[in-house]
Amino acid sequence: MRTRSSVFAAAAAVTVAVLTVTGNPASAGFGESAGTAEGAKGRAAAAQKPPTGGQGIGDPYYPSDGNLGYDVADYTVKLSYDPAAGSIAATTTITARATSALSSFNLDFGSLTIDQLTVNGQPATYRREFAHELVVTPAAAVASGTTFTTAVTYHGVPEGVAWKPQNDGAVVVLDEPHSATVWYPSNDHPQDKATFHLEATVPAPYAVVSNGTEGATTTAPGPGGSTLTTYRWNLVEPTTTYLTYFGVDKLTFKRSTLADGTPVVDTYAPGATGQQANEAKLPEIIDLLEEKWGPYPATAAGGHFLDTSIGFSLETYTRPVYTAGAGIQTIAHELAHQWWGDHVSIKYWRDICLNECFASYSQWLWDEHNGTDLDARYKSSVERLGFKYKLYDMGAGNEFTGGGVYTKGKYFLHALRHKLGNDAFYSSLRAVLTEYADRNISMPELRDELAERTGVDLTSFWAEWMGTRKPSFANLYPGSLGG
Ligand SMILES: [Zn+2]
Repeated sequence: MRTRSSVFAAAAAVTVAVLTVTGNPASAGFGESAGTAEGAKGRAAAAQKPPTGGQGIGDPYYPSDGNLGYDVADYTVKLSYDPAAGSIAATTTITARATSALSSFNLDFGSLTIDQLTVNGQPATYRREFAHELVVTPAAAVASGTTFTTAVTYHGVPEGVAWKPQNDGAVVVLDEPHSATVWYPSNDHPQDKATFHLEATVPAPYAVVSNGTEGATTTAPGPGGSTLTTYRWNLVEPTTTYLTYFGVDKLTFKRSTLADGTPVVDTYAPGATGQQANEAKLPEIIDLLEEKWGPYPATAAGGHFLDTSIGFSLETYTRPVYTAGAGIQTIAHELAHQWWGDHVSIKYWRDICLNECFASYSQWLWDEHNGTDLDARYKSSVERLGFKYKLYDMGAGNEFTGGGVYTKGKYFLHALRHKLGNDAFYSSLRAVLTEYADRNISMPELRDELAERTGVDLTSFWAEWMGTRKPSFANLYPGSLGG
């Protein structure tokens, strides 16, 4: 996400309201002095004790997000969207492996009306709790270590800030830190990555875009002489739920390929076709980012361009969604997220610098590619920086505050580049991206990985930049920045 929307603040406030389930996050004891990765793991395990039957994956900021007891392998969502009513009718099939014996388990799911729910093909009972807990009791307990399927059929008008009606019956669904819950039952936390398939039917002239590569499109006669078209999208890279989305509009499709054959599909809402000139830079931006961060991590690319302002753009995997008026800087930012946030993801929301510091610094790398002297920019402006913004554990609802990870984050990483040295900076970060591919990493773990790989002690450098005070001269002007 590049900028924070005002509606997001409301969403965060709603989520905070359910924190009473496990207590106040301010007392959770997670600080910047989180110590070693092992220490962080110990505290994470303590935080993962579920209050009831596996609810909450253990995120101190959003304790009811995600669930325990299983690991999702795949979501397949089959839905139809009615532009006149703004409603969906859907069946989502979740394939998961039980990590413990499950007499019952939780899914995160919003307010849509459930018509049928089965586990391994047998009708299951269910009840709803709190803001978005769906507690499922299978007819027969699921044995630990086995793979099981849950199929939920439901309908209605999705409710929540993630559901964003567009012009003339169109819609797009996305948000951060959670959005899937609004439109499909899921384990809605970045720690549980899964492949994602969408099959969505709409009446002509509407079309559907989502993550990944295009499957076959089929048509069938609909009511009143209409034509119904079914679009299929397949994301084969394991992804976190908030990076999945779909958009419906009277879309213009533009298809191309990268030099290595990766298919690029760009879609434009009717009033956004002028964005094609900016999106034409995508191959050049990806080339630059590959040079810095390693091979492009996915098997599809592109962008979905809206013609309304939703207040932010989002790095939905393989195909970011761009608010009206997004420029090349935003495209560079969201494409950088394909490495930072999508391919390698945060462990908890307090680790958001992993996403936003790197995506924001990649905008500087794009400027550098176009001739900007970053050292001169840094030295001429760093003293005016708002140092009060934490880059780690900034508190629920503060993750996307503008002066923090988006601004101070760029300076932090430019200083880190000088602290480690140019070659070690890129090579160690590329090694981390390879090591943690399709997985999650915390900021303290990232610090320890970089220190170990480069032999540079990052203790004071990291602590000072993550904190709320201006770093010492040595950490503000490391390496040749001090010369
Ligand atoms: Zn971002």
